[in-house]
Amino acid sequence: MRLANLDGRAVILTDDASGFDVFDASAGRFGPSIQDVYEKWEAFSEWGPEASGPAIAIEESQLGPVSPRPFQAFGIGLNYDEHVAESGFGRPEKLPPVFPKFQSSIAGPFETVELVPGGRTDWEAELVVVIGRMAHRIAEGSGWDHVAGVTVGQDLSERTTQLDGPAPQFGLGKSFPGYSPQGPWLVTPDELPDRDDLAIFCELDGERMQDGRTSQMIFDVATLVEQLSAIVTLHPGDVIYSGTPSGVGFVREPARLIRPGETLVTTIEGVGTIRQVFTG
Ligand code: ZN
Repeated sequence: MRLANLDGRAVILTDDASGFDVFDASAGRFGPSIQDVYEKWEAFSEWGPEASGPAIAIEESQLGPVSPRPFQAFGIGLNYDEHVAESGFGRPEKLPPVFPKFQSSIAGPFETVELVPGGRTDWEAELVVVIGRMAHRIAEGSGWDHVAGVTVGQDLSERTTQLDGPAPQFGLGKSFPGYSPQGPWLVTPDELPDRDDLAIFCELDGERMQDGRTSQMIFDVATLVEQLSAIVTLHPGDVIYSGTPSGVGFVREPARLIRPGETLVTTIEGVGTIRQVFTG
């Protein structure tokens, strides 16, 4: 099943260009917003695949974030070996670095993003995991049972803020307005060719910058959910930006950062594509 946030309403997709309204089709049982759907995910995930309704056209410009107001949004650092190597940090052994992606930075899949004036903004293509069932101290190996689905995200990072000061500011450096785009829709794990091994790549103005597979994660999706739940309680609709493969710009020689007017296109196999245009 694929579920979109179309102008604030949850819509089940029947193909890339059409779908039907969840609230109307369920006579008010689920929705109207996508966040309302996550609150009743277990019942919804049984109802949804059998449901149908009057067709609505899906316009790209109407698509909003897959989880616009999560109770919590997490970012995971250093979760791919080649990215660990290029960034110069040590390899995490027990827990990866975890930081907040503050809610006001969340944006839809095709929004224009204003670059931080005088900043150094970089790309980080990431698989975004959306929680569907509350999780606290869950059993080993049961992480996927708490996941509603996945979507495509960018953990856009302003490197000066991120790395400035006596201690790094990962949360703030990655939470400027529009710096947490996600979409174009939620895809349930059963729709994926292999939920633990998906091609992930991004292109800046047509040049391939990152090219990895989610199977290269040091801590896979199930482990991340399990590890986070050992400490915090995960709520339906919570999102986890699960880390980026190698190929970011600020560690290149010379550094390559996003410039006004450029377009960033990010794709995950079996999930979809998002696109950001940047202004200065
Ligand atoms: Zn990241």
